[in-house]
Amino acid sequence: METKLLSNSTADLQEAAHLLKEGNVVGIPTETVYGLAADARNPEAVRQIFAAKGRPADNPLIVHIAKLEELESVAVSVPELALKLAEKFWPGPLTMILPKHPSIPTITSGGLDTVGVRMPSHLVARKLIELSGVPIAAPSANISGYPSPTTAQHVMRDMHGKIAAVVDGGDCCVGVESTVIALEGEDSVRILRPGYVTKEMLETVVPHVTLDKAILHQLQEGQTVRSPGMKYQHYSPHAHVTLIEGRWPEFAAWVQQHAEVGTYALVFDGEGADLSVPYLTYGTGDAEQAHQVFAKLRELDDIGAKRVFVRAPNPNGIGLAVYNRLIRAAGFEVIQV
Ligand code: AMP
Ligand code: MG
Repeated sequence: METKLLSNSTADLQEAAHLLKEGNVVGIPTETVYGLAADARNPEAVRQIFAAKGRPADNPLIVHIAKLEELESVAVSVPELALKLAEKFWPGPLTMILPKHPSIPTITSGGLDTVGVRMPSHLVARKLIELSGVPIAAPSANISGYPSPTTAQHVMRDMHGKIAAVVDGGDCCVGVESTVIALEGEDSVRILRPGYVTKEMLETVVPHVTLDKAILHQLQEGQTVRSPGMKYQHYSPHAHVTLIEGRWPEFAAWVQQHAEVGTYALVFDGEGADLSVPYLTYGTGDAEQAHQVFAKLRELDDIGAKRVFVRAPNPNGIGLAVYNRLIRAAGFEVIQV
């Protein structure tokens, strides 16, 4: 299949929406990362998403809507708390797990009777949902296990020949996937996957916000997980990644001691000049690091890195999302120096 690269012109968006309505898979920009979109109600279209990504069938897809009225056609009941959260954080990078409406097939929900729903803020994503007239199932548009794509070129590299089209909407501004939450009663939520919407932001609306233990800890054999995606190896480039925690002088000394041919470092902006190995940087503050982290992991593969020592981000605020992606990219190989 030839994969068309479309622009965000009105004519191209109409073509992409038509492809979606007809049951095809299209790579689309969102504010978080690029998504691999299809009609969430069409089991055959959704099957093509799983096939293109090589995604395990029990890892559910997030359903994207453009208007609040559409929520009741995706979720069978919507608690008051969900509406309060929607009012504050939608459109935006927050996904809520709600009881699934029968019109959403179980292939979309990975066999669960719940569904993850979000209203993206990216204008192209919203326009495509409106023009196609269907709710859009869209996981990240990477090959399963590889770092998520934040540009149309990343999507083309992973999906060329496997999907109908990719819409180029430029760089994704957030850079990491949405915050995923489960509602637990009227005054409590659990964060299943950290993202740009932080615990502190949620606490402005909900009295009790807890972090699921799968965010920072590797699951043991046989342990059940609230968010199926958390159990898989994820976000990993081909290079062997190790996350290094500690202060700069100890980091630099550790890298020097353990460097081999093909070793690179991934450090903060302004660091690296005194390192003994080649390096890339991924910003300084948490939002900047979220914006850059996946693109830099991909770039390290492109330049031939075999081994990467990553300077661990501060795991607070949006930094928790960056840390969560990096420990998985490192297969939980974290070293304290
Ligand atoms: P991705 O589509 O790559 O952004 O990943 C979606 C994430 O949302 C995965 O970690 C899923 O496990 C999680 N998710 C989606 N739907 C549900 C659901 N119904 N229950 C729990 N987690 C979900
Ligand atoms: Mg993903």
